[in-house]
Amino acid sequence: MNVKNIALVGAGFSSAVIANQLASDGHKVTVFESRPHVGGNSHSARDSNTGVMVHVFGPHIFHTDNDRVWAFVNKFGEFKAYVNRVKAITKDNVYSLPINLLTINQFFNKTFRPAEARAFIESIADSTIENPESFEEQAMRFVGKDLYEAFFKGYTLKQWGIHPKDLPASILKRLPVRFNYDDNYFNHKYQGMPKDGYTALIERMFDVPGIGIKLNTAFLPEQKADFDHVFYSGPLDAWFGHINGRLPYRTLDFETFYDDGDYQGTAVVNYCDEDIPYTRITEHKHFSPWESHEKTIFYKEYSRLCEAGDIPYYPIRLTGEMSQLESYIKLAEQETNVTFVGRLATYRYLDMDVTIKEALESVDVFRGSHSKNERMPAFVISPLI
Ligand code: UDP
Repeated sequence: MNVKNIALVGAGFSSAVIANQLASDGHKVTVFESRPHVGGNSHSARDSNTGVMVHVFGPHIFHTDNDRVWAFVNKFGEFKAYVNRVKAITKDNVYSLPINLLTINQFFNKTFRPAEARAFIESIADSTIENPESFEEQAMRFVGKDLYEAFFKGYTLKQWGIHPKDLPASILKRLPVRFNYDDNYFNHKYQGMPKDGYTALIERMFDVPGIGIKLNTAFLPEQKADFDHVFYSGPLDAWFGHINGRLPYRTLDFETFYDDGDYQGTAVVNYCDEDIPYTRITEHKHFSPWESHEKTIFYKEYSRLCEAGDIPYYPIRLTGEMSQLESYIKLAEQETNVTFVGRLATYRYLDMDVTIKEALESVDVFRGSHSKNERMPAFVISPLI
């Protein structure tokens, strides 16, 4: 076989999947990660004070409908059954999220059955909105003003720093609305938590002969000359030295607290009121209910605009403001022997399973191009979808 010398920039899920597969094919793979750990923002680590497995960069719950992705991740460690059930506090009351029959009945002080709740929500929703484009229109159309203002408006203003009128409907479409008592936050077929944490899972993906990992090591675009191909999973604009300005992101700050016992009784409680400065509290021990710990650690999560030197989390993709992104896509398409993969390099709000699915598809494309001696494209998945 014609062995290729491949660089992978970043050590999150995209690179772990691609490294694992291409090294298994016999290629030589070098991973460059500027942070001191693998796992990207899904990195997990045991807290030395409590022994609790902490989601260091905020809550990550694995969920997918994709059989290939689920089979793939399960090769690298045991997944424990885990169902994300989120609570939300608004105006001094606690409710269940996503909006479900219990939420509706408690909020409106009713005892509706499913069909009654559906008819009631339809009567208070704004049915004149035919094709919701903004977050606000999506909310007004499907849950109406009262639920929108209680659960989404304040939280979204804090989370995005932008009025929901100016945010795309796609952000709210992540969340189901249910007219039964199912309070599972996700609709997907598979859901679970890696027993030993995400970092152990990703370390096992990297554990193939032929993979070298350089932590605390940045990769400069001019180094691509040393390799046959580069898979880049860093921020798209950073590859080009931010030549057309910085693509906007939100970043997160976490304030850490310790306590004895159980602080809030569940892993995630959202704080939807605008006057509470944090968006949610995550109590990490509840992500591993099969473990037991006397003490507890929890994070208050604050969102703000990402500046130079901060860790980028959520791309801010405003409808009608895509020209800066398009300018970077044009530059990327002129690059040779570089493929841009994952959340940061394709500038999309991606869940872990989609990142893995696309990384596996990138491997498929690499294998196809390699066998035909063709060049690999800059994007396997367009950043504009
Ligand atoms: N959201 C909200 N209130 C909530 C939870 C979510 O308004 O209590 C909105 C918010 O705009 C958020 C989006 O729905 O960015 C998607 O929520 P999700 O829970 O998927 O966010 P993530 O866990 O990815 O931060």
